Amino acid sequence: MTASGRKIRPVSVAITGIGSLLTNDPELGTITDAAVVLDGGRVAWAGPASRVPDADERVDAGGRAAIPGFVDSHAHLVFAGDRTAEFDARMSGSPYTAGGIRTTVAATRAASDAELAANVARYVAEALRQGTTTIECKSGYGLTVEDEARALRIAAAHTDEVTYLGAHVVPPEYATAPDAYVDLVTGPMLEACAPYARWVDVFCERGAFDGDQARAVLTAGARAGLVPRVHANQLGPGPGVRLAVELGAASADHCTHLDDADVDALASGSTVATLLPGAEFSTRAPYPDARRLLDAGVTVALSTDCNPGSSFTSSMPFCVAIAVREMGMSPDEAVVAATLGGARALRRDDVGRLSPGARADLVLLDAPSHVHLAYRPGVPLVSAVWRHGVREASAVQPFHTGRA
Ligand SMILES: [Zn+2]
Repeated sequence: MTASGRKIRPVSVAITGIGSLLTNDPELGTITDAAVVLDGGRVAWAGPASRVPDADERVDAGGRAAIPGFVDSHAHLVFAGDRTAEFDARMSGSPYTAGGIRTTVAATRAASDAELAANVARYVAEALRQGTTTIECKSGYGLTVEDEARALRIAAAHTDEVTYLGAHVVPPEYATAPDAYVDLVTGPMLEACAPYARWVDVFCERGAFDGDQARAVLTAGARAGLVPRVHANQLGPGPGVRLAVELGAASADHCTHLDDADVDALASGSTVATLLPGAEFSTRAPYPDARRLLDAGVTVALSTDCNPGSSFTSSMPFCVAIAVREMGMSPDEAVVAATLGGARALRRDDVGRLSPGARADLVLLDAPSHVHLAYRPGVPLVSAVWRHGVREASAVQPFHTGRA
């Protein structure tokens, strides 16, 4: 609305001169010399540039590739503190265990609301500059009723994809009574957290929660209207993946240590396998076998697991490059997993694709094809980002050294 009360018509934008357009639409496929029209926050049209319809504005992509905005379906952004020393020690030979989470719990509990909110805003913006237009965000560093609800309230200000992870690790004050902590997570904490969350998650792992405890957390969450997702089979074999499939979880995340029965379960169910190679990179651990999952017909997503302990990256391009180099994925498969795969892991059909009706989340790359995301690892290729049809300011921010 203008000052005089007249309604301003939303401006439609035709992005033309796209060298290669990855639509993730089975009928449109990948289109060379393409154009896309964005209108009212949605994709109105996608096809060959020679047939582009009229629009209010035109942007010439200059031969750059366009992909759907990345969908990062697994991130832990509500935290305070720093674990540089732990990373440094690990890279100098100490193994990773789940217990390091408690270090971040102490720092997060001590932080103010404003400090936590500023951190979430910073990491969401950092991810956006790297092409992430949808991001999931978990609690899990509060581990009291008040601190978990606070984390979810802060996350919900930045994303609709909010996950209650009270069952991240047993906090120190319950070290001798883990089942009493599960009672808290499935009782008063769930009641306080459910209004802010869409999903319920549990770290089902030795050192965190066993299969029975994980089942209790997920079924209680489901009764409260939350949809399950599971941290499963990251550090060793375990019941997490099969439990996820049995309970109809949207996603089983990590999937690093799988036996044949786990793979068969994923292939026969609707649960997406979300692979988080930043965690293996940052803990110097063996990578999950994406090829095995894809060959079995499992839907695979790639996400960052952005968190201060085991994977402090918000970069989806980095995850794509690792998945191609180390996990047996083709460049096409990896980019699809980082966009459409993430959308499936979040049960979203409005993101992760660039075909008519989809949300207007588009990334232009300083490259002729999305293959460059793996071919040119570590290079900041994101040239421009549209989110909800709005072009974001300068995608790649200059690094300020403080010098004039
Ligand atoms: Zn995680």
